[in-house]
Amino acid sequence: MATDLKMHLDGLRVADTHEHLMAEKTWVEAGPPDVLSDLFWHYAQKDLISAGAAEGSIKRVVAAEGDLEERWRAIEPAWQAISLTGYGEAVRIVARDVYGIEELSAPALRNAQAKLTDLRRPGERHRFLRDVCQYDHVQINQYMFPDPWDGSDPTFFFYDLSYAAPSSGRVPRDHFTPLGLEVTDLASMQRATEAYFARYAPRAIAVKTQHAYERTLDWKPRSDAEAEAALASVLRGDATDEDKLCLGDWCLARGVELAIAYDLPIKIHTGYYWNNNVMPMSRIRPSLLCPLLIRYPQARFVLMHAGYPYGHEIPAMVKHFSNVYADLCWAWSMDPYMTMDVVRRFIHSAPINKLMAFGGDTHTCTASYGYLQQMKKWLRRTLELEIAAGDLSESQAISISTAVLHDNAMRVFKVPQKKAAMAATESIK
Ligand SMILES: [Zn+2]
Repeated sequence: MATDLKMHLDGLRVADTHEHLMAEKTWVEAGPPDVLSDLFWHYAQKDLISAGAAEGSIKRVVAAEGDLEERWRAIEPAWQAISLTGYGEAVRIVARDVYGIEELSAPALRNAQAKLTDLRRPGERHRFLRDVCQYDHVQINQYMFPDPWDGSDPTFFFYDLSYAAPSSGRVPRDHFTPLGLEVTDLASMQRATEAYFARYAPRAIAVKTQHAYERTLDWKPRSDAEAEAALASVLRGDATDEDKLCLGDWCLARGVELAIAYDLPIKIHTGYYWNNNVMPMSRIRPSLLCPLLIRYPQARFVLMHAGYPYGHEIPAMVKHFSNVYADLCWAWSMDPYMTMDVVRRFIHSAPINKLMAFGGDTHTCTASYGYLQQMKKWLRRTLELEIAAGDLSESQAISISTAVLHDNAMRVFKVPQKKAAMAATESIK
């Protein structure tokens, strides 16, 4: 009976709600030079470092610098230690399915090179995501909004409006200066932010902020007078952490107000960091956001990454707040068992129309495929446990998988309306 669920998952057009995919031109001209580089381009290299691999070895793997045998030998002991982690599992899936490699070795990696060369030809990235991953669409955070438009299919590749810098108490000159926007005081900061939204919000799929990498998620309202003084310190270059926090809180409030005005969800990074050796655990808890969620009931907040490792907070927050949604992007690869637990608790505690279950959160189309297949395996296992416990019928499990992998994202991000609007936008064709 579980076969029907597997067939359903295999055939489903998943809405991929979060990636950092490199643009077509970057993938073709500066993508991973060889298969070893592709396999360890992103998250898995961080587990290798945690396991004891030298940073220099990882740099040579990613840049494909030097002899392949030597590069592989330098990371192989660490690979043996992490091959069963979620990141390691995704590497094994890509090696097996994309490159036909069952066991990583230098000769196997070399023999598979032609497949990567084929995938890096123009147009192959899009074909792979559309036809092999079978995504309905992909939502990308590229930090800088593509401007001018990068030539990608505007009804398949959607982009977030990046808002991490203002939320962290920084003036985002990389966003503002190209638009001719200058910040000298709080009034000009507000005008620049409004102009930035006016330029990109109509084409964006969401507002995205990952300020948890730079500060606590705790938020409080700040007056214009407080923010004016904090901004002056930031502009002078002598801002304290408290100044940045104050300006960040003020900016985040303005960003949420503009997201409401442009009818965009606000995606907020919660939980774990992608890099190594810098994470203060106490400031990444999703529940620290509660004052912001209470202040803006008319916003749509999407809490990302299951707040790992604070997954237990997520169903409670979605259950309590009508303006809060959860997105399990990246979570399956960080900790599949915690994510299974979040889904099972969610099914039995929170409205299932507010859960989105997949985004690979990665840079390459090949890695995205690995995380997709990994998610399908663990989500199926989760739903099969519910069926075995007698709490779900198989047809209910199939309905839930459609909701969390497609329908909810299409509704929360208003994807059909966005597709129609983008198809009609002359300036991006
Ligand atoms: Zn991300």
